[in-house]
Amino acid sequence: TLDKDNPRMDDCRQQTPLFTFGVIADIQYADMDDGYNYSRTRRRYYRSSLQLLRNARKSWSESAVKPAFILQLGDVIDGFNKPRDASERALDTVLREFSSCPAEVHHVWGNHEFYNFSRSALLRSKLNSAAHADRSPNAAPGGSDIYAYRFSPFPGFTFVVLDAYDVSLLGREKSCEQYINAMNLIKLYNKNEDLNSFGSPTRRFTMFNGGFSKDQLDWLDSVLSSADEKQERVTIVSHVPVHPDCTDNVCLAWNFDELLAVIRSHSSVVCYMAGHAHDGGYCRDEDTGVHHLTVDGVIETPPDSNAFATVSVYRDRMVLKGCGSIRDRHNYKHKRSLESKLGCLLFTVLC
Ligand SMILES: [Zn+2]
Repeated sequence: TLDKDNPRMDDCRQQTPLFTFGVIADIQYADMDDGYNYSRTRRRYYRSSLQLLRNARKSWSESAVKPAFILQLGDVIDGFNKPRDASERALDTVLREFSSCPAEVHHVWGNHEFYNFSRSALLRSKLNSAAHADRSPNAAPGGSDIYAYRFSPFPGFTFVVLDAYDVSLLGREKSCEQYINAMNLIKLYNKNEDLNSFGSPTRRFTMFNGGFSKDQLDWLDSVLSSADEKQERVTIVSHVPVHPDCTDNVCLAWNFDELLAVIRSHSSVVCYMAGHAHDGGYCRDEDTGVHHLTVDGVIETPPDSNAFATVSVYRDRMVLKGCGSIRDRHNYKHKRSLESKLGCLLFTVLC
């Protein structure tokens, strides 16, 4: 039969995933009329971004295999809410939508979270989903205000939420040591008066980006060491991309190279997912085979389209089914298995 001739294709069609999860990025909701991005090249749909979140939620609720969890990759409400005194109201509105999701939601923090709230307020808010962390001693970096944790939705699979504004000018008091250190760092590379404008050649040193502290990198290193030992597969999620080939370099994390070095020193990482750059992007790191995905932003997606994805996880692969502007991606740990599973690409459908 055809199936016997091509068992791999049959495999793809018949297999049930071990689990699935939903992904959505940069909703940037605000109850205001459409506007434009900073360079006035892309329209922003502040109000209808809520409808696109609703479409995603409905799709996840109605799917045959309910997602095990949802990843919200940051910038859930827009910074424009702050001067309008609407931060709390906007946050309540989006969180109400998330609360009817069929699964727990893991929230990542982006720059727009910090335009609306201080770090200490965020830690106390419903955007702190660290309660979903593993119940193990090393599930989060101890004794600090870093917002990072790991969780394991299925045996053999670990997800790590990272804090891309741990080193930044956003969210902390101007008098505190972390703020002063971040200011000294950015001033080395950015000579502009307005630190939201980018310098050259290190364009990433702007206020709307941030980085990872040594404490956080050390913690990640220890999490990945234990994952290596157990031969787990790790997906890292944060707001800011870290690979120069999956985004415009103006959107990279300040010390993206240090994070890449940690990833490269471990065998367990299969994927890094971020938001922040609304056009989306994708690359596969040549040295490690790690897939770097920048998820398209809801905020710049027209009301008649969509921007969310559902990832199906199998023993040997992750298949991302994008809806609307997000293109489908297949994620394989090793090049060999990519080649051996190419038949699956035939079943990739844009919805
Ligand atoms: Zn952002």
